[in-house]
Amino acid sequence: MKIGVLAVQGAVSEHIRHLEHCGVEAVSVKSRESLNKANGLIIPGGESTTIGKLIEIFGLADLIRERNRQGSLAVFGTCAGMVLVAQNIFDGIKEQPRLGLMDITVQRNAFGRQKESFETDLDFKSFNSPLTAVFIRAPIIEKAGPAVETLAELPEGVVAARQGSLLATSFHPELTDDLRIHQFFINICREL
Ligand code: GLN
Repeated sequence: MKIGVLAVQGAVSEHIRHLEHCGVEAVSVKSRESLNKANGLIIPGGESTTIGKLIEIFGLADLIRERNRQGSLAVFGTCAGMVLVAQNIFDGIKEQPRLGLMDITVQRNAFGRQKESFETDLDFKSFNSPLTAVFIRAPIIEKAGPAVETLAELPEGVVAARQGSLLATSFHPELTDDLRIHQFFINICREL
């Protein structure tokens, strides 16, 4: 079992460290070849427009879509990664590149200016205690289709959700020592 971390831009090494602490092999994904070795892929935070353009240029976007639809690759988008997995981006810039996999509509940078970055305790479905969630210019899920399960919510909206082999969080689980979100994704990869 190998889990890839998309390594074109953004917080890569922290995700790799968390996966290794969970006892799985982590691969840094920059090419189609390295992507083909992975059973799951984490798309880290960063700038969704930049990551979106780079995965098209590197020939990764089609392969991610194809393998996810075939059921051989689970995908976990954190923050900018959530924007990339979304089918719809509210107020997105014209022709914003995206993977368009998950039946959600997201709003980028959804938390007002003074709260652009913050951390808070968050209840996550099936966890027996809250986690500390770090939000950095985070998106929220404004709307979700019937196949999408809400996993965590703030008064502003949904901040974590799952649709089959797709997982998305507005926050950055790699920035705390809590491994439960990575473990949750590893379990999704094992179900493939
Ligand atoms: N605001 C960024 C975007 O929409 C995401 C920020 C992040 O990943 N921390 O791309």
